[in-house]
Amino acid sequence: MAPALSRSLGASSVAALRPCPSSRNGLVPQWRRAAAANCARGVRWEARRTKGKGRMVGFRCDAAVAEKPAGEEETAGEKFEYQAEVSRLMDLIVHSLYSHKEVFLRELVSNASDALDKLRFLSVTDSSVMADGGELEIRIKPDPDAGTITITDTGIGMTKDELKDCLGTIAQSGTSKFLKALKENKDLGADNGLIGQFGVGFYSAFLVAEKVVVSTKSPKADKQYVWEAEAENSSYIIKEETDPEKMLARGTQITLYLRDDDKYEFADPARIQGLVKNYSQFVSFPIYTWQEKSRTVEVEEEEEPKEGEETSEGEKKKKKKTITEKYWDWELANETKPIWMRNPKEVEKTEYNEFYKKTFNEFLDPLAYTHFTTEGEVEFRSVLYVPGMAPLSNEEIMNPKTKNIRLYVKRVFISDDFDGELFPRYLSFVKGVVDSNDLPLNVSREILQESRIVRIMRKRLVRKTFDMIQEIAEKDDQEDYKKFWESFGKFMKLGCIEDTGNHKRLGPLLRFYSSKNENDLISLDQYVENMPENQKAIYYIATDSLQSAKTAPFLEKLVQKDIEVLYLIEPIDEVAIQNLQTYKEKKFVDISKEDLELGEDDEDKEKESKQEYTLLCDWIKQQLGDKVAKVQISKRLSSSPCVLVSGKFGWSANMERLMKAQTLGDTSSLEFMRGRRIFEINPDHPIIKDLSAACKNEPESDDAKRAVELLYETALISSGYTPESPAELGGKIYGMMTMALGGRWGRSDSDEAATTSEASVEADSSEGAATEVVEPSEVRTESDPWED
Ligand code: ADP
Repeated sequence: MAPALSRSLGASSVAALRPCPSSRNGLVPQWRRAAAANCARGVRWEARRTKGKGRMVGFRCDAAVAEKPAGEEETAGEKFEYQAEVSRLMDLIVHSLYSHKEVFLRELVSNASDALDKLRFLSVTDSSVMADGGELEIRIKPDPDAGTITITDTGIGMTKDELKDCLGTIAQSGTSKFLKALKENKDLGADNGLIGQFGVGFYSAFLVAEKVVVSTKSPKADKQYVWEAEAENSSYIIKEETDPEKMLARGTQITLYLRDDDKYEFADPARIQGLVKNYSQFVSFPIYTWQEKSRTVEVEEEEEPKEGEETSEGEKKKKKKTITEKYWDWELANETKPIWMRNPKEVEKTEYNEFYKKTFNEFLDPLAYTHFTTEGEVEFRSVLYVPGMAPLSNEEIMNPKTKNIRLYVKRVFISDDFDGELFPRYLSFVKGVVDSNDLPLNVSREILQESRIVRIMRKRLVRKTFDMIQEIAEKDDQEDYKKFWESFGKFMKLGCIEDTGNHKRLGPLLRFYSSKNENDLISLDQYVENMPENQKAIYYIATDSLQSAKTAPFLEKLVQKDIEVLYLIEPIDEVAIQNLQTYKEKKFVDISKEDLELGEDDEDKEKESKQEYTLLCDWIKQQLGDKVAKVQISKRLSSSPCVLVSGKFGWSANMERLMKAQTLGDTSSLEFMRGRRIFEINPDHPIIKDLSAACKNEPESDDAKRAVELLYETALISSGYTPESPAELGGKIYGMMTMALGGRWGRSDSDEAATTSEASVEADSSEGAATEVVEPSEVRTESDPWED
């Protein structure tokens, strides 16, 4: 399945794979011999991988599961039950009607390739593991007569314990992911393509085979073992290999006894050759398949004597003739020069795309790729891809541990298990391979983290990635960039927060809606180009949706003045922009905050200084007390009566909402922020004019005070804040409505009596008041705020 070496890179398991000192030269360590001896005596020792630095040092001693008479183990073998999950998986596979059964070959070849990778990796520190086991290669031999396929690799092989661990249980591998996905998609069953998507590793052999025999020799063991299982069985057998013809110097040989229905198709050498070419063309070890070939040979033939010709016995004339002879031989089926080692000029786009899809199990073409070599201080080659879509599972989003970058050192696969060493978190979606000549082959995580070379590599990789993304953005056809932005826009914004050093590269990639482009996203460049000369800043408003951005009161004056405002509608937007601070030397300005400067406007200045308004502002501030820091004349309103702006250094309404929504968010400063808000009023609005009159003529009126309070609370909502008590506010609005409607359409007494709300009682209950109050419809002026 998927590159398995990474799992062996953890300190514990690398050590586990490395022979301990006593086992150099292929000798079996002493404890193992002891364990084997004990096993024979009916006590089963099990070597366990322990966490930490250990090798296989933990032991578990079980009383023998079933004592067997001596000698039985060699012939019949030892029987083991599968772990429950494996049984379930086997059952699913055996009974699935999955139509792309051929994936079994891809899975087995991929396992073989992993085993070769592991061996090559270990041989770097311990050449003895190679011994004289021959070249690193994979051979596949279909046998149409016997109805079998045999896949042989010269890789790391498995010890008896590993056979049990690997082929009887499911560890953290692609296979367990598959099971998890199956659980989540219960109703869809096993036939919905999941098998193809995840692969199910080794067990996919049972898609086509009724019996599977694995014969394997590890450099760590002195014996070769056979694992044997039948499709419909819940147990498997392990025994020692005794057949001299099947002895391997090193590696694994898997024989599939094909089901009757599958024999015809999968024992056909041409079909197998085709599958290898299709599925495994980028495996970096040679794959040979057994093929029937033909050649012309010269043969000598005795010529029949011509009539009348006399030839004595032994003197018959011989004639040379060429005939076509059929024979069987191994044929190389794949290209083994890695794609990144080839000259970019000679590699077709389709090859890059195929490599991407095969290597990363993707089904969409990438949006872009880049293939480059760096020379000089640090030398490495790399092919990087921007995927065609965002990761399906949420887990993988912004997870620096995605296995997206495969690191090779001098063509040897080292690891795909990084934690931000090669790419920053916000670029963790980029996939690709990196092959360095400058890193040591036995590079460890610690080396990676501290290496200067890796730091330089990281810088270059990031730069190349930006170039690649920039290229998508610069295409005439913007469809691809739209796709990119949809899938990875969030990552770019995260970059603005996490990578100050790359703001210059990130800025041009950002896209937003704006007051002048409500349906299409625009870039900051487009915004800046459209700015009138005297505009100094880039204005934005952050809200929770496009709709609330479009209708925010803060926009009114800016729209009137034809100033474009960016709509920041995703949770991450506001923080990203605040981190960016400027773009092309233009400051980002939040239009919902204090001190908004829209250029000189004498009219506004005049109003601000008018004594009438100073009085009004003071009076309102008096009513609102500590709820606001101050009350002032607004420069941003034209149709709304008022708005609540946040302090210059305080949270915007949007940020307050986000902070509250975070379970672990710190809201302790909320109280303080609230006190910093500024209440801005629009002196041209009828309500404010009314209040101004109240302030002058009846500053102590309860109705006027109530109106100020209601105004404030309504401003809270229209400015994006949440009122402290929505129900109380509701009550106040009902009260005002009752007053405003005031029976304008006539009201029967019985209905009136039935009205129970406190507000209505206040407004209407007294006979006297009712007679004194003039019908609201009659006093309505042209500027009546209730009339719309
Ligand atoms: P995965 O490859 O995802 O781990 P598999 O079910 O394909 O899952 O394989 C399970 C394990 O069996 C592998 O991780 C590996 O340790 C071992 N294995 C499978 N095939 C081979 C092989 N040809 N040589 C050595 N080990 C193998």
